[in-house]
Amino acid sequence: MQYDLKRLGRDLADLVGKENAFTDRPTAMAYAKDTMPWDVEAHHVPYAVVRPADSREVSAVLRYANQRAIPVHTHGSGTSLVGLGRPKTNAIVLDTGRMQKLEIFPERGYFEVEAGMHIGKLRKALAPHKALLPIFPGSEPVATIGGSVAVNTSAHAVDASLCKPGDYVLGLEVVLASGEILNTGTESTRKPAGIEATKFLVGSEGLLCVITKIRMRLIPLPRMANIVAYFSSTEEILDTVMAMYREGIPTPLFFEYLDEKSAPVGFSAVGLDPPQGAVAMMSMHSATAAGCEARAQVFLDFLKRQKPLEAEIVADAARWGKIWSSRAEAGNYVYRLGSTFGSEITPRVDRLKEAFAEARQIILNLDSVKGNEFYSFGHIGAPTIHAYAFIPSKEIPNAVKKAVTLEVREKTEALNIKYGGCGGEWGLTAQRAGFLGKKYGPAYTAFLTGLKKTFDPNNILNRGNLEGWL
Ligand SMILES: Cc1cc2nc3c(=O)[nH]c(=O)nc-3n(C[C@H](O)[C@H](O)[C@H](O)COP(=O)(O)OP(=O)(O)OC[C@H]3O[C@@H](n4cnc5c(N)ncnc54)[C@H](O)[C@@H]3O)c2cc1C
Repeated sequence: MQYDLKRLGRDLADLVGKENAFTDRPTAMAYAKDTMPWDVEAHHVPYAVVRPADSREVSAVLRYANQRAIPVHTHGSGTSLVGLGRPKTNAIVLDTGRMQKLEIFPERGYFEVEAGMHIGKLRKALAPHKALLPIFPGSEPVATIGGSVAVNTSAHAVDASLCKPGDYVLGLEVVLASGEILNTGTESTRKPAGIEATKFLVGSEGLLCVITKIRMRLIPLPRMANIVAYFSSTEEILDTVMAMYREGIPTPLFFEYLDEKSAPVGFSAVGLDPPQGAVAMMSMHSATAAGCEARAQVFLDFLKRQKPLEAEIVADAARWGKIWSSRAEAGNYVYRLGSTFGSEITPRVDRLKEAFAEARQIILNLDSVKGNEFYSFGHIGAPTIHAYAFIPSKEIPNAVKKAVTLEVREKTEALNIKYGGCGGEWGLTAQRAGFLGKKYGPAYTAFLTGLKKTFDPNNILNRGNLEGWL
């Protein structure tokens, strides 16, 4: 449907102020682009972008759009890795970036934050209160708290070790598609038992509501002890993860790895000698230094039983800083020096090694591209296999980028079906909507569609993501 853009712009300016409503092409193009590797197409480009100040303005925009059945796409920072961040149909993009208010209430045991604050900024603000924010995406400097709660992602092995962020969300302020403002949850640190709206809305990926404010527990900041282990092969790290779960060894908060190809890249980038084989790095948490030391020793003893080339507790903070950042640097290398097509496989833990072997074969034998390389690094302790197809060039035709993305997505999601996983990060619709249908069947799809219809009868919120449009 075509809209009178001048009129739309004027109406939206009345709702959020003219300095916060845009219909110009350059702004629209900036919000059409996200981390999806292929170029923007005409249907991605928004009609307008609004930057509301608070829930009242969000409510006014949604009420306006809902009455006219105009799609609205919620934008946190647009860093989604499965295409959630790009509008799938011409829409009003609602950018939460101006909603930044934070109130910390130590005496109540929680903080309240508006959706648009960046994770990195929030973590800094919580530091004087010795509070842990249990959300650690690699995009932390720019990803928003609203986007992260909307996806319910913790990253690393945090959910295996602590919980998902949603488990610490006490309540939400959200705006429904109708424009109604809903407050959920409790001001107590005791979460409600039974049927309660917060748990439906956390992780709802902008399909059911716009989250405007989050009330979250202040989690006491733990101490950390760090361990590095060098193995002759990635397979030995996979064996170690499987043994950790089998033997009931306490899971580290962070348990990352670099495979044989990534390890020399990452280590060289931070000025460390390239290691032989693959590297695992782990952080153990506890309330006290003595607790950390004891936990780290238990883990080190366990690691040594797995026969690594070498394993040690790293007490020197500067050295640990280098080892830890080698993981991000390996990522930067593959992202910057070529084209990277990622995947996320979360197999049943006893089948981790089988799933990894199959993922490697899939990536090395793609139909849509030949001669690509295989890299793997990331949150193995969770367990998560991030299997990357790396093409050492950025000069790839758009059609090939799209074909490789979709082939990698489809074939690696088939591994999630085969090996029992369902994506621990990044969210489950947009590029992953087809996977949900295949894994759970039509009754599940109908259930989600019905839920969406109840909250959003005109399907204005993030239209296309549940449908799997590209
Ligand atoms: C380098 C890099 C590393 C990353 N590392 C990780 C990682 O380790 N783990 C991981 O899980 N992800 C990771 N990501 C993906 C992404 O950064 C996270 O999922 C992040 O939480 C998304 O936040 P965002 O603010 O960018 O949300 P967006 O991408 O803007 O939005 C994500 C989804 O949430 C919806 N949404 C956003 N804000 C709201 C709101 N206020 N109310 C309702 N819906 C909303 C959007 O409509 C969209 O559907 C990474 C991305 C990059 C680029």
